[in-house]
Amino acid sequence: MSEVRNKETLGFQAEVQQLLDLMIHSLYGNREIFLRELISNASDAADKLRFEALRDDTLFEDDPELKIRIEYNRDQKTISVIDNGIGMTREEVVENLGTIARSGTREFFKSLTGDQAKDSQLIGQFGVGFYSSFIVAEKVEVLTRRAGAARGEGVRWVSSGQNDYTIESLDRPRRGTRVTLHLRADAEEFLDGARLRAIVHRYSDHISLPIVMQREGKDEKGEETVNTATALWTRNKKEITEEEYAEFYKHVAHDFEAPLAHVHSRVEGKVEYTSLLYIPGHAPFDLWDREHQRGVKLYVRRVFIMDDAEQLLPPYLRFVRGIVDSDDLPLNVSREILQQNRTIDSIRAGCEKRILDLIAEMAEKEADKYATFWAQFGRVLKEGVIDSPDRKAELAQLLRFVSTRSEGDVQSVSLSEYVSRMKDEQKHIYFITADNLAAARSSPHLEIFRKHDVEVLLLTDTVDEWLTMHLNEFEGKTLQSVTQGELDLAALGARESETDACAEQDMKALVERMKESLGDRVKDVRVTHRLTDSPACLVADGNDMGRHLERLLKASGQSIPGGRPVLEINPAHPLIRKLVQGSADQDFDDWAALLFDQSVLSEGAQLQDPAGFVQRLNRLMLSPGASGAAE
Ligand code: ADP
Ligand code: MG
Repeated sequence: MSEVRNKETLGFQAEVQQLLDLMIHSLYGNREIFLRELISNASDAADKLRFEALRDDTLFEDDPELKIRIEYNRDQKTISVIDNGIGMTREEVVENLGTIARSGTREFFKSLTGDQAKDSQLIGQFGVGFYSSFIVAEKVEVLTRRAGAARGEGVRWVSSGQNDYTIESLDRPRRGTRVTLHLRADAEEFLDGARLRAIVHRYSDHISLPIVMQREGKDEKGEETVNTATALWTRNKKEITEEEYAEFYKHVAHDFEAPLAHVHSRVEGKVEYTSLLYIPGHAPFDLWDREHQRGVKLYVRRVFIMDDAEQLLPPYLRFVRGIVDSDDLPLNVSREILQQNRTIDSIRAGCEKRILDLIAEMAEKEADKYATFWAQFGRVLKEGVIDSPDRKAELAQLLRFVSTRSEGDVQSVSLSEYVSRMKDEQKHIYFITADNLAAARSSPHLEIFRKHDVEVLLLTDTVDEWLTMHLNEFEGKTLQSVTQGELDLAALGARESETDACAEQDMKALVERMKESLGDRVKDVRVTHRLTDSPACLVADGNDMGRHLERLLKASGQSIPGGRPVLEINPAHPLIRKLVQGSADQDFDDWAALLFDQSVLSEGAQLQDPAGFVQRLNRLMLSPGASGAAE
């Protein structure tokens, strides 16, 4: 080897080391996937070169035939995967092989529990990639040179996967990357041509580049291609197996686990393209990081153009993975052009439709799969109701919720199911929004619904507030918050004053007195029949912003004009009766404030003046009127 320059030893980023350790333990039973990962990277590198060469074909140097070569050496106990793709500069090697650049990495690693069985599942979410080499190798050597760089700008990277790696510059006549694995003693079984061919066939047949190996056999000479080497999506659907679809998914999505479902279609007519789209089996850990999306790859006439072409699907389908291969776009298409392009608009509408149909079919025919889907992606799908008004009706069919009829905490009640269970007189689909299910279930607002056995949807995802603002009705039934406005209780079968409530006249006087006492903390005080067990609750006035939404906005730092709530009081409650009877007159203001504050607390909200609340409570506990309390 020629002159070596600038040799350095650098430490791995802490997360890399953690990932390496975890991987070696958890993937032991599936070691052969190292080859799939290295081939996947080689194929990506070829795609990138082909793309850059559209603008500058000197990048091909004198070696235009892109391919991947696998070599092994029984004496040295090595396996090499060699590509003539884009290669890497020294900086790129440090960046790509020494750190994990994806945002959210740190959070992801914090979520690791130390329990190997659980963490092994998590690793699938992360994607294993290059580091899977260390499952079989005790030392990995990477030789690379970036296409277009001078031959003196080659790089050699070596690591044993423990703490650090060395990197140095050297001469390298060939562009592209050679990854050489020095196998561990227990991985020597892979030094076998038939075994390697079988692994390629199993995991990497779909790679569109030729994967070549030396012929083996007495009189055999030269090399042979060991995969089918045609882009999977160009093949006839009928001839592609589920396994092939799954392996292709793992390659494009950089995922370790199989997808939930896929849809492969060829569109002909004004706009011609092929799409192969997948729904992953689990959410990526950075699903909520809107900036970092690995979406659908765009190809133009088989040439890779870009990863993560976000214009190909609306944002609420950002979990979808796969490829679109267009016949109509120019090869020099850029992100800017994509933003306002008729062809792309038509492709996006088509892809959105196909994915929604795929999801709807799953919902209809495969309940278990749909449950998985909903648990992973339901919250994102709800954004569609807000972002894609045209699709509202379709999306509404796909929504699933927890309701007061649910046994557990799984979101499984559809709106159709709710409607089919509605009472004859019932006009609305009732829901409550809260921070969590416990708070929703114990809300005083549900008392009357429970009493009359009317189902209420319990909404606890942040997005639900916006969802219910945009989804006003479903199959002719309006959605109605149980905490908002006045309730049409007659429709629920409730009759007025069925309990021994206080007389109307007395209540009027009490309401006036409480209004005066609470001042501008409330917009109004009124008598309610929605409560059975609680003395009071807060509601938002009909047109005001919901109370929960107001809290969410405040928590997110937005200053919003605080709508004043309406305090509703229960004429049948002993505490209210006590106030009517005047036995608490000397402490009336304390009582009024306490009723207000406890209503705030039971919403799960925070008191404005907690210390004042505690003082009032203590005063009342000591007050002579307190002991005789209610009856
Ligand atoms: P991923 O493929 O999901 O990005 P990997 O761990 O497999 O993650 O690879 C990390 C990065 O290293 C790649 O994104 C790429 O930039 C770089 N890389 C790996 N192998 C090669 C290769 N053969 N040629 C060029 N770059 C490579
Ligand atoms: Mg990879």
